[in-house]
Amino acid sequence: MSAAPLYDRVALIGLGLIAGSMGLRMRRDGLAGEVVGFARSAETRGVAVELGLCDRVAESAAAAVAEADLVVLCVPVGAMAAVAREIGPHLAEGATVSDVGSVKCAVIDAVGPHLPDHVNFVPGHPLAGTEHSGPRAGFPELFENRWCLLTPRPGTEAAADRLTRLWQGLGANVDRMDPDHHDLVLAVTSHAPHLIAYTMVGVADDLGRVTDSEVIQYSAAGFRDFTRIAASDPTMWRDVFLNNRDATLEILGRFTEELFALQRAIRTGDGEMLHDYFTRTRAIRRGIIEAGQDTDAPDFGRAHGERPV
Ligand code: NAP
Repeated sequence: MSAAPLYDRVALIGLGLIAGSMGLRMRRDGLAGEVVGFARSAETRGVAVELGLCDRVAESAAAAVAEADLVVLCVPVGAMAAVAREIGPHLAEGATVSDVGSVKCAVIDAVGPHLPDHVNFVPGHPLAGTEHSGPRAGFPELFENRWCLLTPRPGTEAAADRLTRLWQGLGANVDRMDPDHHDLVLAVTSHAPHLIAYTMVGVADDLGRVTDSEVIQYSAAGFRDFTRIAASDPTMWRDVFLNNRDATLEILGRFTEELFALQRAIRTGDGEMLHDYFTRTRAIRRGIIEAGQDTDAPDFGRAHGERPV
């Protein structure tokens, strides 16, 4: 498919899984006149050229954003402020600045103060990812039939509409949300589950040392899924928890209460409580499948270890 370019020049800052997937898809489908990329290491910039993630790489973030009408920050959440500080003075009049960070309030606080008044700030978050990271992990179908949530800043309506069309061109369904609400929803659907997976794998690892690695050898599906999630990029997830602290702690507090209730039901032999609980949670799973957000659905995703993030 070839469409009219939605932007003349798109600058991708950070060239890992998300930026790589965006670049490959934009280039494949002609969504941008030119895709310029920048990553901090020469090695990543070299791989980006080798794989054609962008049309060219720049030698600095400031050079990459010059004359770009869309700039997308694709670095870990904790690195957004430093990148914004560097590019701020070099942004073109009327450019749109967006990001793909998994947390929205902290990114808005970190990036916003460094942007000049003459740009439109439209933060975003594609709910798509794999446990793989780096420039070799990207693939053009990553966003197919996934959600991308935009949290536009006031006065950026036209810029948000144009960015919506880009994400639709990348294959995503687009919705808009208030940043606080985004962070709470993602704490429930992604951030707390990741922490639970990290914890469970840590527990199993401790236990594995006293069971001669039987935990690994006889891994059943539930634990295998946990290990896949717990293999996600440590830098990215450290930054997610440090930057979505309040919402994650709120959800973990509720999780702990529920866990204690289930623990009590097991201890007291309250089978009715357990059965009712599992019946309710089974209905949630069915809702996810009906909404088409079942992680195992598309074959291309399975090949790349896809899961929503
Ligand atoms: P990634 O594959 O690890 O790539 C990160 C990129 O950022 C690399 O090009 C890296 O450069 C660069 N970078 C890292 N630290 C930096 C720093 N301190 N200063 C400048 N550049 C730095 O990451 P990703 O998975 O694409 O994630 C990027 C963003 O998307 C994150 O904010 C994450 O929260 C969000 N996100 C991720 C997922 C997911 O599942 N992975 C899903 C949705 C959103 P070098 O290669 O040169 O080190």
